[in-house]
Amino acid sequence: MHVWSVANQKGGVGKTTTTVALGCLLADKGKRVLMLDLDPQGSLGSYFGHSPEQAAQSSFHWFAAPGKLAEDVLNGCIRHTDTRNLHLVPGSTALATLERSAVTQEGMGLAISRALSRLWDDYDYVLIDSPPTLGVLLINALAASERLIIPVQTEFLAIKGVERMLNTLNMVNRSRRQPLPYLLVPTLFDRRTQASVSSFRHMRKTWPDVTWHAAIPVDTRLRDASSQGVTPLALDPDSRGIQAYGSLLKTLLKAESALTSTAGVAANG
Ligand code: ADP
Ligand code: MG
Repeated sequence: MHVWSVANQKGGVGKTTTTVALGCLLADKGKRVLMLDLDPQGSLGSYFGHSPEQAAQSSFHWFAAPGKLAEDVLNGCIRHTDTRNLHLVPGSTALATLERSAVTQEGMGLAISRALSRLWDDYDYVLIDSPPTLGVLLINALAASERLIIPVQTEFLAIKGVERMLNTLNMVNRSRRQPLPYLLVPTLFDRRTQASVSSFRHMRKTWPDVTWHAAIPVDTRLRDASSQGVTPLALDPDSRGIQAYGSLLKTLLKAESALTSTAGVAANG
């Protein structure tokens, strides 16, 4: 099982869209995919028709105290979608209450890691859609992940958000054995606007090794898909948006196999 988080401490940058796009593309390759909504806004769940006002069978229940998550609750939160191999755990507004109460509880930063470890054989990929605020939810997402995808809207004020996210990452890395690999993904790119072009260039210049070489373009088909509750792949596999996400996925999978083979060399060496 590979666990990837999609995070940025800023809303409206394409986190949920990226989660759904990568999720449906991986499922289309025959991978068993679980998308996990850890955003109290519950946009990922809403996308597939699950109301965030409803706490029942949502990721909220995965934050049980150590040893207290029952098997039927663990599995009962998982919903199927119309796409084969693509499952999800919806979010809920109740998640917001955890930000206040759970931080002080022992082991709460690892609730999601613990839950996912019990599903290890059931999924090839888990994609976590993270909340835009730094708290117990984001910490859980990052602690459970082996890779972080940071969508960055290509506009003037985006850079500040990246710096904040990288500070958080530094903090999280202090308690990890290995630093969490990450990729900055320029999103909502419109080559006709100066703001898009110059912020894309700025990102490539400031973070050359960790910024994806291309960008996800503005594509109304991605927005149409979300308003119709279908994956962008089901709506229009030829759209510019889903094509760009396909190329992003290629980059991510390549990075993953490079990581695996490096580990292999080290293990053999
Ligand atoms: P976040 O999860 O970071 O808040 P979303 O993925 O929900 O961001 O995107 C915010 C809004 O922008 C949504 O309405 C979504 O449909 C739209 N959107 C996201 N990416 C694109 C894109 N590449 N082209 C057009 N619209 C997009
Ligand atoms: Mg979102």
